[in-house]
Amino acid sequence: MTRRFDDLADAVLAGTPVTTDDALDVLRATDDELLAVVAAAARLRRKHFGNTVKVNYLVNLKSGLCPEDCHYCSQRLGSQADILKYTWLKPDEAIEQASAGLRGGATRICMVSSGRGPTDRDVERVAGMVGALKQEHPDVEVCACLGLLKDGQAERLRDAGVDAYNHNINTAESHHDDIVTSHTYADRVDTVTKAKDAGLSPCSGLIAGLGETDEQLVEALFALRELGSDSIPVNFLMPFDGTPLEGTWDLTPGRCLRILAMARIACPDKEIRIAGGREMHLRSLQGLALHVANSIFLGDYLTSEGQAAEADLELIRDNGFVVLGADGPSADPARPAATTHDPAKRRRGAGTDLPANA
Ligand code: SF4
Repeated sequence: MTRRFDDLADAVLAGTPVTTDDALDVLRATDDELLAVVAAAARLRRKHFGNTVKVNYLVNLKSGLCPEDCHYCSQRLGSQADILKYTWLKPDEAIEQASAGLRGGATRICMVSSGRGPTDRDVERVAGMVGALKQEHPDVEVCACLGLLKDGQAERLRDAGVDAYNHNINTAESHHDDIVTSHTYADRVDTVTKAKDAGLSPCSGLIAGLGETDEQLVEALFALRELGSDSIPVNFLMPFDGTPLEGTWDLTPGRCLRILAMARIACPDKEIRIAGGREMHLRSLQGLALHVANSIFLGDYLTSEGQAAEADLELIRDNGFVVLGADGPSADPARPAATTHDPAKRRRGAGTDLPANA
């Protein structure tokens, strides 16, 4: 019954792109078929990325206070979410934060700012930070994510040493206006195109769980394929209280895994990054998801905390992967290949006066 996913992987490996029906089939696989879907996607992942995981680190240069109205975003206009709000980090602070991510095992630093888009002065500010960061860490890969770009800004960032530019399309064109009204889908595509045309590696992805249909998820993935996005962050909605999508819990761990598998099968040789919402939505399936995706963020997200950075690295090691760009099985050779703990002695339940762990 599930041989069809293996056949699909064979076809994709032979160079046949998936159709909408194929992608929907993956998204709608039953729980019985879930491992077959993962196995099929894992073959493509192994072919293009071997046993490596790319580790990215977010530095939120400017947080909150955004004039745009993206319904999913805790930084949006009118957001009541209790998040950190601050204007531009000082360059030293930005470099210090980025360096912490690099010490923790990341190889790509994503420098992000809230807002509709940068002024030319903002671009100069970020250009200066990137120059200084690259002087200290010549091998670091830098992705900027500053919003909608105006003519010439992508070129300026490229000249300053920026390697990639992130601007997510977030959702299907047919769903865009239901989740944001202050800019258009075309605006977003225009920025991805500007970045690509300037020679920056385009990074564009989506957020699942915004009330989109299966067809719209496929539409978004196929649009990213068309746009030539080199890296595709797949976010899972974190429904912050105080935003219009507060209380929207449409995702299950299995659903998230199918979405990642669909992304892998639709874009087999692209970096598929498990982005925001990984811990909250994949939960105990994070390890399986690494057999499909080949990239994660280390540590915290823009306005929410992730799991401990060491737990991220352990997740990678425990599943038999290595950090891309690291020398050995561990990002930090000083860290053991497996974390060892003395077993915690039971002091509750039977034989004690304390309640059982049940
Ligand atoms: S996603 Fe970006 S543009 Fe939209 S509200 Fe959030 S910070 Fe602003």
